[in-house]
Amino acid sequence: MTELEELRKRIGEVTIEMLSLLKTRTDIAQEIGKIKNQQGMNVSNESREDELRELVKKQCQEIDFDSRSALKFLNFLLNESIKVQSSESNTHLAIFLKAKELEQQGKKIIHLEVGEPDFQPPESVKHSLSEIYDKGFGKYGPAKGLPEFRKKLAEFANNHFDANVSSENIMVTPGARFGIFLAITTLLVPNDEIIVIEPAWPAYRQCAINAGVKVRSIKTTLENKWEPKIEEILDCINNNTKMIILNYPNNPTGKILPKILQDKIIDIAKKHRLYILSDEIYSNYSNQEWNSILSYGYENTIVTQSFSKSHSMTGYRIGYLISNKNTIEKLIKLQALCLTNVSEPIQYTAMNSLNEDVTKNVEIMNERLIKLEQICNEMELEFVKPDGAMYIFARTKNPINTSKLSEDLLEHGLAIAPGIGFGDYNEFFRISACQDVKTLIEGMDILKTKV
Ligand code: PMP
Repeated sequence: MTELEELRKRIGEVTIEMLSLLKTRTDIAQEIGKIKNQQGMNVSNESREDELRELVKKQCQEIDFDSRSALKFLNFLLNESIKVQSSESNTHLAIFLKAKELEQQGKKIIHLEVGEPDFQPPESVKHSLSEIYDKGFGKYGPAKGLPEFRKKLAEFANNHFDANVSSENIMVTPGARFGIFLAITTLLVPNDEIIVIEPAWPAYRQCAINAGVKVRSIKTTLENKWEPKIEEILDCINNNTKMIILNYPNNPTGKILPKILQDKIIDIAKKHRLYILSDEIYSNYSNQEWNSILSYGYENTIVTQSFSKSHSMTGYRIGYLISNKNTIEKLIKLQALCLTNVSEPIQYTAMNSLNEDVTKNVEIMNERLIKLEQICNEMELEFVKPDGAMYIFARTKNPINTSKLSEDLLEHGLAIAPGIGFGDYNEFFRISACQDVKTLIEGMDILKTKV
């Protein structure tokens, strides 16, 4: 056997050995997952992951191996464990689907779990829809979106978000969710790391795991008014960290960060050359001072926006993404690959509704939030008064497992979102203000009987 053949044989053996070890590791992860599930524990455990990181770094020193590669490999292993342990059975989407099933069986359910405004879209939508056929929209179009629409969106961003962009910086997406998927999937490679400030909308984590990207979560607390600590952000940044996700006004807490804290986070991102993916879909539901991340003029910013909440057009699936021209060119390739272009009839409809006055909806949502706050206070629930968005994220004085509570409440005709879907927040639940006040009161009356 030549030396090359000998080495090839050896590398084959080592690969097979590694596979067996991976199988053993996955089996153990599955066992751990069962225990976590029985004990109602969260799948991710940041401090345990940190311990493993330290072990790996130490070993790298001992065997003189590049720790950057080793930590990327560890990220792969950690994500594999999360995949085998995760179940989506407790997210608000799962509760929503169960509620729908019960409704089909004839049960009446009050939906306080979904974040879907109950308003009608603006009147102009009706007119635009009736015009589409005659205007001839109905063919394939550019993947970035209708040029006229992108121009109007750029003007809108400059007027409302203190931005300085042109249509080159805009791409139309079928909702913000797809924009987030595109950004994470295109800009990051497997085993890169992203920072997610929790509690957070579950799709950030899910998109990252889907792309093999490692999530480093910063757990904020009610005691600290849902504000992340700068040291915690700094502590988890390493060579593999590529992106931080921000979402203010926040789903589920309604938090808007104080400007000074936001400034500091942007400084960190700039210093470490991180992408900032800022999901700003609740921006028009702000009841406090809010500053778009676009106002900082940092080139590695990607902002997602949507007509879902602002114009109550969830089912139309229309949103947009704002970033530098280079990034847009990268993202557009995956969008073209996946869906050719966003439906032009819907783009036309959204374009015509862009400048409609939707402040009435915002006022109504805010009145409902105030009502919900009042009821939550009467019930002695603990929560931070939301600065915006359309939710209250609360817990009872004596902590309870809200996954079980949510299941229980369904039987009594109420759907709420358990906290575990937003991170390690088993004691919290999210109530959404997307129903009229009478229905909200009815729903909260059911909640009162159980907490
Ligand atoms: N981001 C956040 C924070 C959300 O809460 C939601 C929907 N609930 C989305 C994005 C998705 O929005 P879209 O309907 O535009 O995809």
